Amino acid sequence: MLILDGTAVRTEILARLKPRIEKLRRPPGLSVVLVGHDPASEIYVRGKIKASAELGIYSEKITPPESISTDDLLAVVCELNRRPEIDAILVQMPLPHQVDSRRILESVAPDKDADGFHPVNVGHMVAGRPAPRACTPAGIIQMLKYYRVPMDGRRAVVVGRSDIVGKPMAMMLVQENATVTICHSRTFNLAEECHRADILVAALGRPAYITGEFIAPGATVVDVGQSRIADRAFAERIGKAAEFDRKGSALVGDVHPLEVLQRASAYTPVPGGVGPLTIAMLMSNTVDLAERHQ
Ligand code: NAP
Repeated sequence: MLILDGTAVRTEILARLKPRIEKLRRPPGLSVVLVGHDPASEIYVRGKIKASAELGIYSEKITPPESISTDDLLAVVCELNRRPEIDAILVQMPLPHQVDSRRILESVAPDKDADGFHPVNVGHMVAGRPAPRACTPAGIIQMLKYYRVPMDGRRAVVVGRSDIVGKPMAMMLVQENATVTICHSRTFNLAEECHRADILVAALGRPAYITGEFIAPGATVVDVGQSRIADRAFAERIGKAAEFDRKGSALVGDVHPLEVLQRASAYTPVPGGVGPLTIAMLMSNTVDLAERHQ
């Protein structure tokens, strides 16, 4: 069993960015917009700002109040679109309920779209043209390449069809010449579909849902899920009792962490697998955009 180590892949991605940043006339600029005080979002944004500082990317955090209207937030993004020293803009999701998230995401200039969520960039991605790409699936492709997991001609099954993970993941695997099936909550017999996969990507957000019977012997299993569980008995059943007792909760992926070890040939653990790649690819998108602007 090969454990696919996201931290090692992140280190390599960031190391490749450093010389590219040094060649630029001015540091790349990333602006992160964080509305309100969602604790998880605050942690993610802190990680993004810290990674930028370590690499020599100029970054700033803009924190409009929780009560902001769609129009006022549009004005914030509009101003960032205008500023020449800002190469990349990221609006941290989720936004408060009164804000029209789609309008906000579509207001980010496509050539400053750090997350690759703008429909223009989704279109470029589908057409196989260079453009910022959704960070989590782009990081997974980097990881599969780093570990030389063959994709060409292989059967890949993606569980989940969200705009930020499942759909772009499936499209990127197609571009690597995999034969791809997308599964979701209406799929009949999910276990049977998954069992056909040489590469199984689980992005459904259901802790430890993908058990041994879903996994073909020798498959590569990529676990995107990140759920924090507060049930000690559940944590114990999936071998996470020690983590639970240390922290009062446990971070669990979508794949059963014990049963996968009996079946797969390679697996991304949670934590330490896919998680570290997302910020690395955000840095990569930011540097790509800065190079294009300069
Ligand atoms: P999401 O928007 O909630 O989408 C979940 C998808 O899974 C939906 O397409 C849903 O189907 C499908 N699904 C749900 N239950 C299912 C079931 N029982 N059987 C089959 N399909 C099912 O979630 P997301 O944003 O894509 O995120 C998925 C997971 O990845 C979450 O745990 C999230 O925290 C994690 N994540 C991690 C990272 C990272 O950096 N590691 C980044 C992003 C997300 P329908 O479309 O039919 O509803």
